[in-house]
Amino acid sequence: QDLGVKAGPFRVVIAGRPNVGKSALFNRLLRRRRSLVHDLPGVTRDVLDEEGSLPDGRTFRLLDTGGFDPSGHEEIPSAVRRKALEAIRKADLLLLVVDGAAGIVPADRAAAEAARHSGVETIVVANKIDRKESESGELEAWELGFPEVYGVSAEHGIGADDLLAAIGSRMQPAGDEAAAGAGETPEPE
Ligand code: GDP
Repeated sequence: QDLGVKAGPFRVVIAGRPNVGKSALFNRLLRRRRSLVHDLPGVTRDVLDEEGSLPDGRTFRLLDTGGFDPSGHEEIPSAVRRKALEAIRKADLLLLVVDGAAGIVPADRAAAEAARHSGVETIVVANKIDRKESESGELEAWELGFPEVYGVSAEHGIGADDLLAAIGSRMQPAGDEAAAGAGETPEPE
């Protein structure tokens, strides 16, 4: 059973209301040019789970909670919602994505509340900074009350390196991978 012991690869979970660009960010952080899934608005996606890597070779698990809408405004099957919440609960780091161009809307506050409730460390990602309107949106993102906000454009790749560095700073240093992966204390020399 889940005893709250964190073992295995570092788990980064992308969350946020629909259409903020979670899927675009997922693909960007995996250095893929295009999504493998159709990103039609309103189409329910299951949780996606892939291996990501940092420039120094360290790997992490990246999960996209596609169908998660904490506001409950969208019709999302409960099984999808349950899986999304489970992924959030098991995360080592949450990337709470907001649409910088649209600004902060009530559904973003609901997502922020869910993130806070999970107790998982959360970084706010203000996406779509390629759009002019995003200047105020990125500022508004700080109002969600988390200590770090990264402005990115998932579609154009702006800010992706800084975000990967932020992920890396939370992970075990390179070389400690085996110990971290096994979830055990390293063997004595
Ligand atoms: P999700 O529902 O949160 O997974 O959002 P998607 O990744 O499907 O993106 C929703 C919409 O926002 C799509 O039309 C994307 O093309 C668009 N989008 C995503 N990222 C960016 C970005 O960085 N800049 C701009 N301008 N549009 C974006």
